[in-house]
Amino acid sequence: MKEMIYQTVCPGCNMGCGLYIREDTEGTVAVDFMKSSSANLGKLCRFGMQLPHHYSKATSMVDGVEASIEDAIQAASGKLKGAKDVAMLAVGATTSEEHLALTRVADALGTVVNTGMSAYEEIPSECHPAMGMGIPLEDIEQAKRIALFVDPYIQYPLLVRRLRAAKHNGASIVAVGWKDLNLADENKYINPDQYESELGLDSDSIIITDVHPHTDPEQVKQLLNLALMTGARIMFMKPFVNSTGAQLLSKGTGQKGLSEIMAGINEGSIKTLVTLNSDPLELMPNSDEVAKTLEKLDTLIVITSRDGAVNKMAHIVIGTEPLYAKAGSFMNVEGLLQNNSGTGTAGIDAMSTLARNLGGSAFDYQALHNEVLESIVQKYTRPKYKELECKLMETAAVGDGRGNLIYVSNPFMWFDQADDNDFVMVNMNMVKKLGLRKGGMIALTSDAGTVNVRYTVRDVPDGLILTMKKLPVATGSTTEVAAEAV
Ligand code: SF4
Repeated sequence: MKEMIYQTVCPGCNMGCGLYIREDTEGTVAVDFMKSSSANLGKLCRFGMQLPHHYSKATSMVDGVEASIEDAIQAASGKLKGAKDVAMLAVGATTSEEHLALTRVADALGTVVNTGMSAYEEIPSECHPAMGMGIPLEDIEQAKRIALFVDPYIQYPLLVRRLRAAKHNGASIVAVGWKDLNLADENKYINPDQYESELGLDSDSIIITDVHPHTDPEQVKQLLNLALMTGARIMFMKPFVNSTGAQLLSKGTGQKGLSEIMAGINEGSIKTLVTLNSDPLELMPNSDEVAKTLEKLDTLIVITSRDGAVNKMAHIVIGTEPLYAKAGSFMNVEGLLQNNSGTGTAGIDAMSTLARNLGGSAFDYQALHNEVLESIVQKYTRPKYKELECKLMETAAVGDGRGNLIYVSNPFMWFDQADDNDFVMVNMNMVKKLGLRKGGMIALTSDAGTVNVRYTVRDVPDGLILTMKKLPVATGSTTEVAAEAV
């Protein structure tokens, strides 16, 4: 077999950066730049450059023993036949066609596919189009003023290029967050009730924020209100390669949040979990806690293209081809359709057999792809920004439910990269207040336990502790912790 070259999209976030993957005869992969990709013009961030470490081959398993994919599908069919209390999870980390295939399996079981994005449940449905569809990335470059509620350097790095171009075109950037951003003209640490008066936004402005499984719905409401009050446009960045496609395909159904699914398993109302390229151990902030939760399931069925941590806990693993080798398409944050050049359909064929074994109809890749083209691509590809149809929403009082330990990275795909910093960031006031010693450690205690970590001094707001690594004391993207010197 000669070397294979695949045209694909980086799975690190929903920017949709195009790239080539070269796979040699030994199965070793390397990344090549794709200059023709409009989302990134050939550039890749740290995660994109490290993709060869991210890809791994999934092995089909039944009860911890390696099995053929056919045997794994039959075992999964046996477990799912007549099963009640089933939850399905697909966050958008695979193609639209595979997402649709899982909805066919869900239909056969009388259930839905959950995307894990709980924020949608609490926001009125007329606001969902604004949250679901972004605005063309080139529009960012033409904005006069940009209010940033994400840290693009570490959450959506290729956004930085658009922001630099906007500045070059005369835009001013104001960042609202946990630490100073170099590219911002102003950095503000203010409360939501000050946004309208302090940020200087109008109809030539763009608000850039994000929505992911741990997003606080209050923040979404506050920023939608801000867009309504100022006339600024609003763009929601997203963390998974096909977040936008998955959200559109699951419209009106399946918005149960990840935390809700975990709570359902703990309470016993969910006995069977089926995941598609979605590893709860990676997706939730506290992997140890999630492992205990997953052990309570009667059946855990994992359909995946990667050899992730959850595979080891699964009763059945249906191992599919790597993401880059799949036939299929993705939709990026601006509503741009991106096709893989791969032709693999092992995942789709597996779900077709599953659906048929469960009393549904079989399907093939082409039928699903046609449906993707009709149901989302023709309707939504690169839409012009639509005026918000929301109304102003009531929001909770400032400060409710906020923690002081903040997880600042994209918390899903990127955690614990080999070169991640293994220290937390605090400011000099906290060093003095806690009496932290140079070279010493800081002990953080939450309801989930205590951990000792190294620290470094940065210009962060008073009272906050920022981390880029997953810490076992974290219970969400923000966590209330007590801190002391050790
Ligand atoms: S910005 Fe996102 S999609 Fe682009 S290379 Fe980085 S992680 Fe991948």
